[in-house]
Amino acid sequence: MIIYGWKSTGIGQAQIPEPCPNCSTENSVQMHVFKKYAHVFWIPLFPFGNTAVTECDHCKQVLKKNEFSPQFKERYERLKEASAKALWTWTGTALFAVLVVYSSFASGKHQEELKTFAAEPQINDLYTWKIDGEYTLAKVVQVANDTVYLQFHEYSINKSYKVNRLLSEHPDAFSADLVGIPSDQIPSLVADDTISDIDR
Ligand SMILES: [Zn+2]
Repeated sequence: MIIYGWKSTGIGQAQIPEPCPNCSTENSVQMHVFKKYAHVFWIPLFPFGNTAVTECDHCKQVLKKNEFSPQFKERYERLKEASAKALWTWTGTALFAVLVVYSSFASGKHQEELKTFAAEPQINDLYTWKIDGEYTLAKVVQVANDTVYLQFHEYSINKSYKVNRLLSEHPDAFSADLVGIPSDQIPSLVADDTISDIDR
């Protein structure tokens, strides 16, 4: 469920000297300026213009921005200029931008690390290995004569991100059998996603 929409918040108010168009009382009209902004889960995303209302202290008449007289509109323009810029209405967008930049940086770094680890296998590297649409773990136990020897975990799980559960639930369930794979095949197994992650 995504909760999003528009909100507005008061950013300025002033008593204006022009007479009320309804009761003609002077200095009785209060103008309130609001900034509208988009939000998701109540986090402001970006501003979306301003709006205003006036209320007469005397006759209580309320006018919306589109009902303002030219003089009221001019007051509104000036009050709006003087009002807070409300940069906080960009909070969500700024956070989102930081998150996008950070996650693309992190994922680029992770891909680089994967390639490095694949090119030079080391004992105790732990591969997330895809078999028949499921994921299991393979542990490097020996690297010799251009061959990587692996012990496979005896269990598998349906999602790659859950694969560490195999370790926590069955830490000793690695098969005693050694499976030899030519070292120079490891990078292509990473490239075709058979090995989707390497923990070192
Ligand atoms: Zn009035």
